[in-house]
Amino acid sequence: MDSICPIGLQCATEISALLSPPSPLQVQKYYHDLLTARGCSGIKVKQDGNFGKGLYADMDFKEGELVLKDPMLVGAQHPLNKIDCLVCSFCFCFIGSIELQIGRRLYMQQLRANESHGCEVGSSSKHCHEMDSSDEEESTQQCTSGSSKTKVPLPEGIVESLMNGQLVLPFSEKFSLPPAVPCPGGCGEAYYCSMSCAEADWGSSHSLLCTGESSDSARREALLKFIKHANETNDIFLLAAKAISSTMLMYRKLKAVSLEEQMKHNTSCVSNHCNLSILLEAWKPISMGHKRRWWDCIALPDDVDSSDEASFRLQIKMLAFESLQLLKTAIFDKECEPCILTDVDFVMYSLCGFPVTLS
Ligand SMILES: [Zn+2]
Ligand SMILES: [Zn+2]
Repeated sequence: MDSICPIGLQCATEISALLSPPSPLQVQKYYHDLLTARGCSGIKVKQDGNFGKGLYADMDFKEGELVLKDPMLVGAQHPLNKIDCLVCSFCFCFIGSIELQIGRRLYMQQLRANESHGCEVGSSSKHCHEMDSSDEEESTQQCTSGSSKTKVPLPEGIVESLMNGQLVLPFSEKFSLPPAVPCPGGCGEAYYCSMSCAEADWGSSHSLLCTGESSDSARREALLKFIKHANETNDIFLLAAKAISSTMLMYRKLKAVSLEEQMKHNTSCVSNHCNLSILLEAWKPISMGHKRRWWDCIALPDDVDSSDEASFRLQIKMLAFESLQLLKTAIFDKECEPCILTDVDFVMYSLCGFPVTLS
């Protein structure tokens, strides 16, 4: 497979370092440090040969007691779920207001219904958008064709009033939500529950993935191409892009610290070996959820015959390669080049979709 695919021909050392699973000792140390940093006591992460990693309690906890609170490494809201609810793009809590959540959902449903019934074109569009009482019967017949349920049309303007806050639903003050803070980069895609979540996401990955006006136009265009490709092929690439971006940003931070240290001690280390150890450090949180490469471990779909397995896996590999090329055009820069070379970043890309699954 590797002889056909232009991958795996360079950087053998880096690739094998990235592909090797962390040793039990490394795993133990990583989680011990993490739990200590979070101020947790009474719990341990242990590795079991049969079941993998697990969280073990060393003491009894009271009902309702907070055992561990830890932010997720990388996560993404599934595109389909985005239609249903508005959540913080960093901590994924509900934001806005009950009225906004309901209004937005009704608006999206209306859009989808119009698209699937072709109501957005021609005269029927009028009936779907302007559902006043005189149109009621006709619009119900036109817009719900194909559905066994009879939908009750909404009074005109109700969705807008819910979304713009003019209409307040009874008891909604009992379920107050944090206000939706738009992404400071202006993409109009990411919203947050607070400025602290907006800043944390920006620092963790969104500064490289934001398609807002503040991004360079060539980068923005390349990012949009990458996103389109992911939406058309496999949305796991969107999550992989977050993992890669967070590793790159961490790599930059650690590199800056290392250079500062070198200046302080008047030493110099610019070798690839130094860069690799910094990359491995940045990659460490993701490496803890070690899995095999995507195309090696993805389950064979039911409609693919086992005799076609090799070509199926090659196809998946090429798809990931295609996606990474689009992502690289958008986010990679000279600073990361000494370490993140073609084959190395591809290995990272192939691994990073798996520690976390999309839901
Ligand atoms: Zn948040
Ligand atoms: Zn943004």
